[in-house]
Amino acid sequence: MDKKTLYDSFTQIELDTDTTLHQISKIKKEVETLVEENATLRIENQHLRDRLSDLEKLQRSDEEVVEPEMSKSRLNLEKLYEDGFHVCNVFYGSRRVNDEPCAFCLDVIYGERR
Ligand SMILES: [Zn+2]
Repeated sequence: MDKKTLYDSFTQIELDTDTTLHQISKIKKEVETLVEENATLRIENQHLRDRLSDLEKLQRSDEEVVEPEMSKSRLNLEKLYEDGFHVCNVFYGSRRVNDEPCAFCLDVIYGERR
């Protein structure tokens, strides 16, 4: 291999590597977006389930005693929180950077009234 060919090869490899790196960061961003979107949907799903179960309870409030279903809801939110996502209304569904604790989230999960 002469020197020019060698040099050209390196230049080509450098360009290819740049392109690949660019693609990797693009895909990484897309994955992050999807992961956060998924967390948001899980939280919204939980809230809708809570709402539905509230409505169902209202409908049969005369017949049955209210069971502690909220604890299941809290457990689901707690799991999401432990997976590294905000479940609070402030940062809703976004990732907790470096697992930073969030007082709003803790209030949602462990607060007195829900
Ligand atoms: Zn939070």
